[in-house]
Amino acid sequence: MGFGFDASGECRRGEGSDPQPQSFSIRGSVGRFAQNIASDVSVVQNALNRVPQSMGGPLPSLRVDSICGPKTIAAIERFQKVQFPGLAADGLISPQKRTISRLNSLLAGGGSVTGSGSSLGITGNVGDAQTTQDQLDLARRLALDAERRIVDAMSRLARASAALANPQRSGTGQQLAREVDFHFKASADPIPVLHLSKIAAVYTFMLAAIRGSNTGSREIFKAGTDPNPNAIAVADLGGFFSSDPTKRFIIITPNFRTQSSAVIVHELAHFCGGDEKSGRDIVHRASPRPPPNGTRREDGSTDYANMTPFFASTNVFSYQVYCFPEIPEFRVP
Ligand SMILES: [Zn+2]
Repeated sequence: MGFGFDASGECRRGEGSDPQPQSFSIRGSVGRFAQNIASDVSVVQNALNRVPQSMGGPLPSLRVDSICGPKTIAAIERFQKVQFPGLAADGLISPQKRTISRLNSLLAGGGSVTGSGSSLGITGNVGDAQTTQDQLDLARRLALDAERRIVDAMSRLARASAALANPQRSGTGQQLAREVDFHFKASADPIPVLHLSKIAAVYTFMLAAIRGSNTGSREIFKAGTDPNPNAIAVADLGGFFSSDPTKRFIIITPNFRTQSSAVIVHELAHFCGGDEKSGRDIVHRASPRPPPNGTRREDGSTDYANMTPFFASTNVFSYQVYCFPEIPEFRVP
């Protein structure tokens, strides 16, 4: 849903579509021959900096100085050229028009876009997948990496649980404990070990789903589309357990071009949590971007660092990021 990583996009189906976060709105136009109100310029500079280069983001990042100079205008044009091929790139962003809408939809969603490169485990797009079959094949290839990561996450979770219970823990134990405190707020729960066992149960279902797919015993991916044209992959909340055959799949759309299994892990968390509004449904509560504190998301009452244990246990990004411990920006100090 939403973090639509790569192409943004919805990553879960819920009631209607995900609300667009109000993250980026401007009062006047920004860019060439525009009003360029300072606060609007910094909004645009910040937003562009969060777009991966492969999707038209600036490289190097823009300095966020509220001044719309040649580099900012060039960055707007570049974004327009990549996002709207065939249309004239005018270097101008106006309120409620196409470019600002695209920025918002790209940066809104769940597992897909965000960040420059490595964020949230997304490393870029592949350019050669053109057909739906290509996208499905790509998803199935990435699913092999997702399986390995989920196995590793479950192992770290078990070791973290042991570490939390042991006051004499080693340096590695300390690190594992800090990790589960950061992503899942384990120590803030009255019974940390029980809290982590609930997290582990979700990963267990994710592993069952992905193993079924990887061994061919149960297909969980299906080619399809979504009303949101930017969606790259879509999962029904709790679809893995659904008796409705239309909900028992993660839909892979023709936009699916990521090189990272982060999207698969993200969708699996939606897919293997509870049903919509079950209280255990795994949704977008708080994004870890920007680190270290992150951003509140549609169902979140707080930012990433300050989620309650319950919110952390039902936050899709917590499951996703925990599977990508190599990403420096999410490494716990
Ligand atoms: Zn999502």
